[in-house]
Formats: sequence, structure tokens, C-alpha cells
Amino acid sequence: MSAIQENTEMTPNAQTNETPSVPGERVDMLNFTRKELEQYFIQQGDKAFRARQIFRWIYKQDVTDFTEMTDLSRNMREHLLEHATISSLDVVRVMDSVDGTKKILFRLKDGAQVESVVIPIGKRLTLCISSQVGCALGCRFCYTATMGPGRNLTIAEYMGQFLGAQRLLPEGQSITNIVFMGMGEPLVNFQNLLGTLDILTDELGPKLGARRLTVSTAGLCPQILKLGETFPVRLALSLHATTDAQRDQIMPINQRYNLKTLFETLRNFQKLPSQQSLPVTLEYTLIKDINDSPEDAKRLIKLSRSIRSKINLIPYNEHPGAPYKRPSSEAIANFLRILQESGVLATERQTRGDDILAACGQLALDGEAKKTRIPRPRNESPSSL
Ligand code: SF4
Repeated sequence: MSAIQENTEMTPNAQTNETPSVPGERVDMLNFTRKELEQYFIQQGDKAFRARQIFRWIYKQDVTDFTEMTDLSRNMREHLLEHATISSLDVVRVMDSVDGTKKILFRLKDGAQVESVVIPIGKRLTLCISSQVGCALGCRFCYTATMGPGRNLTIAEYMGQFLGAQRLLPEGQSITNIVFMGMGEPLVNFQNLLGTLDILTDELGPKLGARRLTVSTAGLCPQILKLGETFPVRLALSLHATTDAQRDQIMPINQRYNLKTLFETLRNFQKLPSQQSLPVTLEYTLIKDINDSPEDAKRLIKLSRSIRSKINLIPYNEHPGAPYKRPSSEAIANFLRILQESGVLATERQTRGDDILAACGQLALDGEAKKTRIPRPRNESPSSL
């Protein structure tokens, strides 16, 4: 089995760990979907409706102290104080861009760091969240990949990013959309992704419409179909190449699921009831002399027309040690013009947060490198840098 195969199998994820892995360790309520929380309370000899109460306290009231949960019995509060916790992620740094983008570096319990980004677009406030520390898929252009394989985030760590980002927003503002496009491949962390989607869309949780949630993937075909069978979320595909030779070179996952398999999967995905008229967003990072020729544009048009899709062009974001270059402004404009003249739906992603470290994973890696130089005690108020 190749490294890719080993790391992308859809096995039940050990980190869906609702039961403590260490005897005596407290269970983290953020790891539970509401159904799982009902089971937890039944196992404790209490009533299932406690789950509804806890969900309201956490996700509607932002109360994480069991002693403040006044509609729980005193016995249950004492039991929870002893056996359970509601975790939060430490905020290491917050970087505010002049365009309103806010990049947040979170520290996890094991000391690893991940990024989340809040992006205001019109009336929407979109949160981009991470799925893994590092990534095993090893895309050649990706800064996160330079961290190596790393590990999956737990549901609590997914939800911790959401709650942590929400707490940094001014009064009256709230996250309206979520994109799973941060560090790591969400479909490798499949079970925890599903649990997180369940909580995010729960009417007693954050209650975000599934259509406001976008999952991005490098192209894990079986998981794409499974996702579509389970949740009516939007899908974004990191395409980035128009021939297998090109894609093999920059995205090793293509050696497992080539373009033919991938687009057949997408066609089947789009037939699922959950997808109805939804387009798939084709993310295409334009890299100088790799995938930015007029021939590439023509092949991209053909691929785009083979499914319901829209194209999001992303000029390559050079980062320290990057092996590739961003095309010239003229080359980018020319590529976009060819797409648009053909009639396919194509836009260039507006670069956000240019004045802060913009490449995905850059802040976390920068933070790793400087970890000893930016000590910040637990629960200290974040500073805007
Ligand atoms: S682009 Fe995405 S899938 Fe590829 S290595 Fe980076 S995080 Fe992983």
C-alpha cells in the first residue's frame, strides 16, 4: 500500500473519541453530536433531553461552565464537573488584514497549531477551518504539506475553531458560512467531518444551513460519494491541472484517482438527491509554466462543461521556499478571458489578507518556528498583530 493509500482509507476514526482514551480523563462535550450526547446521558442514568439543554447552553448561550447551567440538577452538575469538560482552543495570535480578513492561530491540547480565517464578503462572514495538523497528500505547491502527515483534528477541535472564531467577532456579528478549506484534507478526516457537520447544522446548535457549508477535497472519490449521500453540503474540488501527467506531478492523489475516475465520480455525485442543482466549484491554482497556458484553459473549459460547475481561479500564492511562481498579471488575465469568452462560469478569487501571511498553513508554520518566541499564557486575551 502506498503512503497515500494508507492515509486516505475511510476507516472509523479513532479520534471520534467520545469516550475518554485514558481512564479518568474527562469526556469533552464538544466531541458529541446531539444524538451521541443523548446516549451519554442515558448511560449516566439520566434523561436524553439533557442533551438538548447542554446543546443550548454551549451553542446558543456560549456557556461552558457547568455550574452556570441552572436547568440541570445539582447532582448532574456535580457529576459533569467531575467527569466532563467543554474544551476551548488557546488563541496564539490574531492577525487582522486591512480588508477585514482575520487570521487566527489556535493551539491544540497537544501543542500543535492550526489556522482558521474569517473572511467578510458582503453580508457574509465566512469561516475557513482546518481539518488536520499537516497533510499526508503532499501536493507539491502546498505550504501545509511541508508540515508532513500530522494528524486528524477531533470534532471538539473543529468546533473549537468555530466557537473560538465566533468569540473574536464584534457583538452582533456571527459566522454565516463555513468552508473546510484550511489545513489538511477534510475527507481524510471523514468521520469527524460528518460529526462536525451534524453539530453545525443542528437546530439547537449553530443551526447553519447545509448549503452554507462547503467541503473542499483534493479528490478522494469514495468519500466524495459518501459525503453526498450523507449531507447536502457544497463541494469544492482542488483540481489545479487539466491532464493526468500534470496532475500526477503536482498532486500525488491523482495517481490513485485520475481525472477520468474523478469526473465520473463527480457526475455520479451530482445525481444524488442532496446535490440537485448545485454546482461543484473547481478550484484552479494558476502556476507559472505549469498549468497556465491557453491549452490548459481550453482543457479546463472541457472539464468544466462535463459537470455542473463554476471555476475559481487562484493565482499561486508564493511562500518561503515555494518551488513555483505566480504567473504574470497579463497571463492570469488572458487565462480568465479565454474561460469567460467560452461561456463557462469563471471568476478569479479575490486575494484576501495579502498584508498578513496569506498562504494556507503559513501562520501555523511560522508559529511553529517561533513558538518559543511568542509565548502566550492560556486564556490570555488575543492581540491583534
Ligand atoms: S492542498 Fe490540501 S490536500 Fe493538498 S497537501 Fe495541501 S492541505 Fe493537503
